Amino acid sequence: MPENFKREIYLLRPDELNPETIAVAFAKTSRSPLSFREIAAELTDEKSAEFHERWVVGYGHASVAEHAVLHLALENVSRLAIECIESNRLASYTEKSTRYQKWDRQGYYIPPEVQDGSIEKIYRQTCDLLFDTYMQSIAPVKDVVASAHPRAEGESEERWDGRIRSRYIDACRFLLPAASLANVGMTANARVLEHAIRKMLSHPLREVQEIGERVKEVAQVEIPTLVKYADRVPYLENISADFSARAAAFPVEPMAGMLELVDYDPEAELRILAAALFSPGGASFATVMKTVREMDGDRLKELAEVLLGRLDRFDAPVRELEHAYYTFDATLDQGAYFELKRHRMMTQTPQRLRADLGYAVPRLIVDADFETSYRKAMEQAADAFSQLEAWNPHVAAYLVPNGFNRRVLMTMNLREVYHFCELRADKNAHFSIRRIALRMAEMIREVHPLLGAYLRLPQGTDWREIEAEHFTQV
Ligand SMILES: Cc1cc2nc3c(=O)[nH]c(=O)nc-3n(C[C@H](O)[C@H](O)[C@H](O)COP(=O)(O)OP(=O)(O)OC[C@H]3O[C@@H](n4cnc5c(N)ncnc54)[C@H](O)[C@@H]3O)c2cc1C
Repeated sequence: MPENFKREIYLLRPDELNPETIAVAFAKTSRSPLSFREIAAELTDEKSAEFHERWVVGYGHASVAEHAVLHLALENVSRLAIECIESNRLASYTEKSTRYQKWDRQGYYIPPEVQDGSIEKIYRQTCDLLFDTYMQSIAPVKDVVASAHPRAEGESEERWDGRIRSRYIDACRFLLPAASLANVGMTANARVLEHAIRKMLSHPLREVQEIGERVKEVAQVEIPTLVKYADRVPYLENISADFSARAAAFPVEPMAGMLELVDYDPEAELRILAAALFSPGGASFATVMKTVREMDGDRLKELAEVLLGRLDRFDAPVRELEHAYYTFDATLDQGAYFELKRHRMMTQTPQRLRADLGYAVPRLIVDADFETSYRKAMEQAADAFSQLEAWNPHVAAYLVPNGFNRRVLMTMNLREVYHFCELRADKNAHFSIRRIALRMAEMIREVHPLLGAYLRLPQGTDWREIEAEHFTQV
């Protein structure tokens, strides 16, 4: 092999080149025969900025911006604002956990919109009550958990608490309102970030708009050109306002169960198997599909076994499973929704957070003899929400605790069903989301037993048992 055709694989290091320069070094390989090192050596920050102005901004070759990656640390942002921050499919996030950390008494956000005497008073009183009740709930709920999971001989207090903490915090977290402050780390490329900033600047909450402005400001230190033109989007603002007005005529309807499968293709299993057969051959999809349609049950089972039967514990099923789609109408508590929303690959359309779809009561709260205080706090939050809702429904949502139900429409393919159900049905997941994952798996198996059979779920666990074990009300 001649020297100039020798394979080379190396890093363009962000400590040597700024993100915009890395993006240009990659972009230029499209027209330049030079190596990436050589291209990068010829670049300066100014030349990179000029390139981006011309190609990315001017001619819309926006995918170049994907090579400029930033890591943003966002601290003390409300969990309500996090919903918008984390609404980008192609970004990565890690946030403060409501399962492994306890919240401090004053750890809630006061939005600028409420800085008016009477509304601010209702707002503060509600958050204070929820945080006080949350803190008061910890000791009695912990006692119940501790007696069921006693300290092992020789185990330190700290280690024991670490072992049982998520069990008691899992129940207490239902009291925390969406105003609770958290930290979130975000990794995003400049293309996603520009989109994220536009969404934030167009959001109805001032907090989110301010975060958007600040994100733009700090991003511009590293990528001065790529987010320079990120601005509010009147299209998004108008859609939100217009549809809100039109949707006001619909009644608020609590759901009978937690999940309804509102749409799926009864033939989807055949399509997936046909797609798997289509790939290695040369026939048209119509021909392959016709053949699969004519197969008997045993032949189909045999194909399904080949496709999914050899999955090892950590293997993801092949992409052919993406040819089947399911749409669910779901109602789940806000704490569970907060975990669900992290599943970026599915399409989610949540209704705004409200306090009139009922709330969950964790059994541990009842066992700890804390139900009266819990219900008092939840009902006071619902009352405060309804007082603020007519004035500003977006701001009122800050007051809604994790225990209240949220309605969300979600569409996902079978590959994402596999990922979501297997991860969230696991015994280490929170009981709220385990219940959803197991119910979803059951529904998929009802309509698509052939491919649903291979879902790797914990043996002998049923969503009804989880519901009965962990809730007295959902
Ligand atoms: C035990 C446990 C503890 C957790 N604790 C925390 C916590 O403390 N804080 C917190 O913020 N979150 C926590 N999470 C949530 C977790 O970080 C994920 O955000 C969440 O589980 C969604 O999973 P996912 O990213 O695999 O799924 P999806 O977003 O649904 O993605 C599906 C699949 O697509 C692929 N994929 C998607 N995006 C990317 C990407 N950008 N790069 C590469 N592959 C990608 C992966 O294969 C992924 O499995 C926890 C989750 C678990 C299971």
